[in-house]
Amino acid sequence: MKLLLATNNAHKVLELKAILGTYFSEMSTLKEAGVSFEAVEDGTTFEENALKKAQQTLDYVGDRFDAALADDSGLCVDALGGAPGVYSARYAGEGHDDAANNAFLMKNLSGVPFAQRTGRFVSCIALVRRGLPPICVRGTAEGIILTEAHGENGFGYDPYFWFPPLEKSFAELSPAEKNAVSHRHNALVLLKEALDGENRHLF
Ligand code: IMP
Repeated sequence: MKLLLATNNAHKVLELKAILGTYFSEMSTLKEAGVSFEAVEDGTTFEENALKKAQQTLDYVGDRFDAALADDSGLCVDALGGAPGVYSARYAGEGHDDAANNAFLMKNLSGVPFAQRTGRFVSCIALVRRGLPPICVRGTAEGIILTEAHGENGFGYDPYFWFPPLEKSFAELSPAEKNAVSHRHNALVLLKEALDGENRHLF
């Protein structure tokens, strides 16, 4: 079964290929396949966006691939009713960068005490295959939203996301350390379990 990964993010691709390598005869990223299609992410849930992205991408490439995989992720803060959620990438408005999104997050959380600054990173991964039911999984990483940035690694909201089990912010973790505990990793483990549960080894 030939799988198209609907992403060009190098970090995500490495992780996906490492974990899913035995389940697919061939795996390509959009770039490797020469596909420039970008799906519209206009859903109200991570699941909806991931499934839409995977299905639209598979429809776009037609018979060249048998399956497509897409993900959608973001940060959900309890004191903000789950925001920024599916709007994480554009929390401060279209065209704004990580620094603007983080500044907006800090503004909205100003005065909120530590005990109420709970939240989680969420990653939903959808796998759509011709002739088989879709699979959609959700992985999370629970943490506390800091009042100041800590660490230089990672991207997005990582410097403000304190991860209690390791007593560090996500931006203070090495890429390998983050990959072992991240929401994306947890979703991938669930996807692997779902594929194993189907008993459809080595297509
Ligand atoms: P996407 O799913 O790659 O489109 O990510 C959406 C947005 O969520 C990103 O632009 C980040 O702002 C945020 N985000 C998702 N995953 C992470 C993470 O691991 N660290 C920090 N921010 C993240």
